[in-house]
Amino acid sequence: MRATIPPDVQTTCPYCGVGCGVIATVADHGAVTVKGDPEHPANFGRLCSKGSALAETIDLEGRVLFPEIGGRQAEWDEALDLVAGKFSQAITDHGPDSVAFYVSGQLLTEDYYVANKLMKGFIGSANIDTNSRLCMSSSVAGHRRAFGSDTVPGTYEDIELADLVVLTGSNLAWCHPVIYQRLAAAKAARPSMKIVVIDPRRTMTCDIADLHLAVRPDGDVALFMGLLAHLAAGPAIDRTYIGTHTQGFAETLAAASALSLADLTERTGLPAMELREFFRLFETTEKVVTCYSQGVNQSSSGTDKVNAIINCHLATGRIGRPGMGPFSLTGQPNAMGGREVGGLANMLAAHMALENAGDRERVQRFWASPAIADKPGLKAVDMFHAVADGRVKALWIMATNPVVSMPDADAVEAAIRACPFVVVSDVLKDTDTTRHAHVLLPSLGWGEKDGTVTNSERRISRQRQFLAAPGEARPDWWQMAEIGRRMGFAGFDYRSQADIFAEHAALSAFENGGSRDFDIGAHAGIDRKDYDALAPFQWPRPAGSSSDRTRFFADGGFYHMDRKARFIAVQPPVSDHTNEKYPLTLNTGRIRDHWHTLTRTGKSARLSGHIAEPFAEIHPRDAMELGIRGAGLVELESPHGKAVVRALVTERQARGNVFVPMHWNEQFASRARIDALVPPVTDPHSGQPASKNVAVAIRPF
Ligand code: SF4
Repeated sequence: MRATIPPDVQTTCPYCGVGCGVIATVADHGAVTVKGDPEHPANFGRLCSKGSALAETIDLEGRVLFPEIGGRQAEWDEALDLVAGKFSQAITDHGPDSVAFYVSGQLLTEDYYVANKLMKGFIGSANIDTNSRLCMSSSVAGHRRAFGSDTVPGTYEDIELADLVVLTGSNLAWCHPVIYQRLAAAKAARPSMKIVVIDPRRTMTCDIADLHLAVRPDGDVALFMGLLAHLAAGPAIDRTYIGTHTQGFAETLAAASALSLADLTERTGLPAMELREFFRLFETTEKVVTCYSQGVNQSSSGTDKVNAIINCHLATGRIGRPGMGPFSLTGQPNAMGGREVGGLANMLAAHMALENAGDRERVQRFWASPAIADKPGLKAVDMFHAVADGRVKALWIMATNPVVSMPDADAVEAAIRACPFVVVSDVLKDTDTTRHAHVLLPSLGWGEKDGTVTNSERRISRQRQFLAAPGEARPDWWQMAEIGRRMGFAGFDYRSQADIFAEHAALSAFENGGSRDFDIGAHAGIDRKDYDALAPFQWPRPAGSSSDRTRFFADGGFYHMDRKARFIAVQPPVSDHTNEKYPLTLNTGRIRDHWHTLTRTGKSARLSGHIAEPFAEIHPRDAMELGIRGAGLVELESPHGKAVVRALVTERQARGNVFVPMHWNEQFASRARIDALVPPVTDPHSGQPASKNVAVAIRPF
């Protein structure tokens, strides 16, 4: 039994970007139970299977409880001095770009803030990137191109208020289950609501769909281009909104109109009748929300997809009003919070821009820092390339397992293994990544750590501690601050996470005065007591304000210099990468009851009971032609690697496509790391890897 803090704590689920409120109750004998928080505006008491099983994943089995150097137990002082010394030496010998941090959307905003400050403001490099690069960076790039800022214009309530909800690249039922529950309840209460699902697979989400479009992988750029051209020729076009609040419509429409109906059917793989039905539904329904997730973002044309979607909403003025707008569903619990503090290699802090000299000078002055990164750092895929070719000499990995989750995962493992100095901060002692750590630092897990996260609708919520820290485990922000101090930098004397949040809030308003979208200056200087009591709120919340701003852009007010949005003229990508040797298309994704690389959900027998082993969904005719039997083992192969999983033969899968979940690590299933097959191909604007649309071969094993 572990020492605990108070009996009943309002906290936030650490899994997906829905950001559900959770009440954790600790009994006298130490047993923990969880239930949905009825007061939290994200979920109003609902939880999904993963959230409900949180108490089953917080035992201490497998935890790293003390710092380790080369596999032996060490004191914190010794480990921290070694890390600070190695990083300082690499910087002295090879310059600031010879070190890198690879962090995570699992980190709390306060952790992210300190990591970003240390790397960009004091080390003077922007070599800090995050596994959120794999999750939503194409949405960030698309938002910034269209809006001039990384702003989600709407709120979860809009999904319930819409008369048409388009879900593209999103298996909402499994990946954002509580939003799915809210949507299903809204449709049950108002059956006239229509739902369209755009996905190569007939997923569980299709069970509530009025129309399922089994689009070709990466065919959705053409689909939304066709939609734009259709809208422009009919009554739904809002020329007043376009003329008053946007730029670039004519060129964008010209590009979209170049695609004939035959082009559209060819590129999307959809019959003309289905295209027409989708276009008609969108055209004739004023209240439309288009939700998109990893099927859009994880693509070599992910940013163009995002902009193709946004183009249709700008053209109809359907943005920022109740029940209308494009809506990016983030994957991780704090993908949004990481963006707020600049936890990506191409961002600065508080939504300020790394490429803007005025912003850099302002942030440097606020931090009173000796240096400020003046060019973008290495994005995730490039970072591991730099580790592989020796440019990065010292690497710190926090709260993530890139040996399983990165594309070209075998090459990533080889790079980490060969890196001269690797620090890993984690809760678990033995993962595919911790095995390669020269120094392993014990971090706090959910229930032990304390801070804030931001969900997909810009809502900042507290994750609160209700379990005592086990062993010598310490917060990630504390580890970073200690290294900053030991490297000789001032500005890292935080007493608690409340100090960090107060500084973050102050920076968001510093000489910035609400002129940008992200301003939480109302909480600048917040004290520990108010921080502990902080109720969930949606940003922005500038000084003097206590109400949430739920929507943006109904009346323009975009964040480009002229306050106008930009239409982005896009081109449909080459979408078929198959060839004679690799004739099928692999799409990776999540399943309902597991999270990321199984390091937490794999502890719950209940969650593992839903789907016990990795599988490849394949169409019956493809299976027959390849001699594959249902439930037999199959080997998948790409030029980058191989994996062995069980065949799941089903008509839910489109012909020519294979779906394999991304979760399994070596501990739970040997040779099932599917990201070993994914090539390190990225979107040119966002740097996000294409974890879908991978040419593979599949054969009986
Ligand atoms: Fe947690 Fe997401 Fe499930 Fe909510 S929907 S309980 S945030 S995993």
